[in-house]
Amino acid sequence: MSSSAAAPPIPGPFTDYRSLSDAELAARIEGVRQRMGRRLVILGHHYQQDGVIAHADFQGDSYQLSRSAAERDECEAIAFCGVHFMAETADILANRPDKVAARGGRRVSVVLPDLAAGCSMADMAAIHQVEDAWADLGTVIDTAELTPVTYINSAASLKAFCGRHGGIVCTSSNARAVLEWAFARGRRVLFFPDQHLGRNTARTMGIGLDQMCVWNPHAPELGGNGTAALEASRVILWQGHCSVHAMFRPEHVDGLRKNIPGVKILVHPECSMEVVDKADLVGSTSYILRQVEQAPPGTKWAIGTELHLVKRLESAHPEQEIRFLSPVVCMCATMYRIDLAHLCWSLEHLEAGDAVNVIRVDDETAKWAVVALERMLAVA
Ligand code: SF4
Repeated sequence: MSSSAAAPPIPGPFTDYRSLSDAELAARIEGVRQRMGRRLVILGHHYQQDGVIAHADFQGDSYQLSRSAAERDECEAIAFCGVHFMAETADILANRPDKVAARGGRRVSVVLPDLAAGCSMADMAAIHQVEDAWADLGTVIDTAELTPVTYINSAASLKAFCGRHGGIVCTSSNARAVLEWAFARGRRVLFFPDQHLGRNTARTMGIGLDQMCVWNPHAPELGGNGTAALEASRVILWQGHCSVHAMFRPEHVDGLRKNIPGVKILVHPECSMEVVDKADLVGSTSYILRQVEQAPPGTKWAIGTELHLVKRLESAHPEQEIRFLSPVVCMCATMYRIDLAHLCWSLEHLEAGDAVNVIRVDDETAKWAVVALERMLAVA
């Protein structure tokens, strides 16, 4: 792609962008993409709305996206149309010390078009809470035998905590392999922030509910657990969840099975155990996409994951009967905050050399987060 000599537009305040039509915004976004060429990478998460996805260079899950951008040598700036922790991961991977050195010291700027695009699950585990939990657990069990595992949907500070304490990161695709790695090293796992992914994965490994307990960071003592329960536990699950996937209920599965004979229920492991137990197939976003892509025409699906992804699958596969598992709208409202106006505003500022909403993880946090991410890469 070429970089034209046209002068960058003079960006205005965000409120100016609110008065523009979608067509005007789309044209201006494409203008920046043309002028910046391969220096700019726009990443669009699978759960992002279609109007934004239309401008993305890559579409995928958070980890795939960060890796794709980090591998583009010419990239100078990333606009991450996802949520905050995803932009942090992109910053960490794109600005690893070896990569910055290879670029002669130049960092890649990562921007999140709307800083209010957070993740309710990630926000359920703050670093001070995790540090307090670790210290409290140390009064009951030997933390030398406890491996912290964080889902990639977490703040960089939690990934760094895992790096420092012999722990690891997992995704929904490799959670089982990561837990196997952790159990090869120690007797117990502290899994955060998503209790459902932790519980659903541990159960596939034959770990019973009697060997799991839930850590409530707001409980006055020991996360709401007795000493005996903690001593008996192999998996300590952080009391966090995804507010989107929590909306799917077992009765939705029952209702659809009754009304649509032969329907296959396909859900994400962030759904509750009760939903997962009733499903036919359970897996990550990539797994969900693969199942639908490989299915014969006429297959009937009810899918339990974020609405935008399911709607996109429905349009891409008219030969199959795809419906949403829940009767109510379950979309990632925080990711939805990133719209064309925010994208256009942030891109024009980037191009003008006046980047807004830059996500920068401090070097020490990034260093330890990379340690935990590298352990994951070595496992799966
Ligand atoms: S879908 Fe759930 S886990 Fe994913 S970004 Fe949204 S709130 Fe977070």
